[in-house]
Amino acid sequence: MQNPGIHSTKLGEITITALNDGQFQANSAIVNGITAEQADAAEAAGFRHVPPKITISSFLLEIAGKHVLVDTGCGTAFGPAMGKSRDKLATLGIDPASIGTIMITHAHVDHVSGLIDPDGKAVFANAELVINAAETAFWLDAAIAAAAPEAAKDAFKTAQTALAPYAGRIRTVSHGQEALAGIVCHHLPGHTPGHSGWHIASGNEQLLIWGDVVHLPGIQFPHPEAGLAFDTDSDLARVSRRGAFDMAAADKILVAGMHLDFPTFGHVVKAGGGFGFVPKVWAPEA
Ligand SMILES: [Zn+2]
Repeated sequence: MQNPGIHSTKLGEITITALNDGQFQANSAIVNGITAEQADAAEAAGFRHVPPKITISSFLLEIAGKHVLVDTGCGTAFGPAMGKSRDKLATLGIDPASIGTIMITHAHVDHVSGLIDPDGKAVFANAELVINAAETAFWLDAAIAAAAPEAAKDAFKTAQTALAPYAGRIRTVSHGQEALAGIVCHHLPGHTPGHSGWHIASGNEQLLIWGDVVHLPGIQFPHPEAGLAFDTDSDLARVSRRGAFDMAAADKILVAGMHLDFPTFGHVVKAGGGFGFVPKVWAPEA
């Protein structure tokens, strides 16, 4: 029996629950900035699966009795073995119609396709979306989509299809602006133009849900220079990754991420020439 993929932790007055959306087999050919051999060696050194797997999670926040999501997983886009965030909400007894706000880190398939059902209709009938203005300005711009290389065209279609039923209830913010009280947009550009973390403060505690700063924890903590083929701009993503690692390590900020090892909460530390990740230890109570 494995952990069912639901894990809650407390941050001040907020309960934050990681919802595992599934895990899929990747390969080291998607890594850039280091060789595939270096990537596989880092995986092996961490006693991980070679070639690497990628885990997806989304997050549920409970703030003063209100439910908020951060990303939505991949919905039905990756087949029946994936897209489990919605099942996890059902397990928790949470009606999608009760979700008031969904903060989106970026508009890639594994973050926004859970917004829609197989017919392309909105899963969350009453939710407003909050997203970095640079993200919608990129993915929803017809001229940019038309000029995109053939290999990127699917990503534009995915973003447009997922966001379309929410037209009229999308609120855009930029770096430093609040999505909700105490939850601030932290722009980490490069993976996508508007890729952003959400910095959450409650009481004396803080958490950065940093989106896709890391896709492959066994590789990118020891090799922060390692980027992903899905990055819109891997060089800029490298700058953002190092910046996020440096900030989290220096300020001892708790972080969580959509592709960190479930349940994803932990701290970044400097280790060797790169970084390491210290998971927040399990506790029976949130
Ligand atoms: Zn992702």
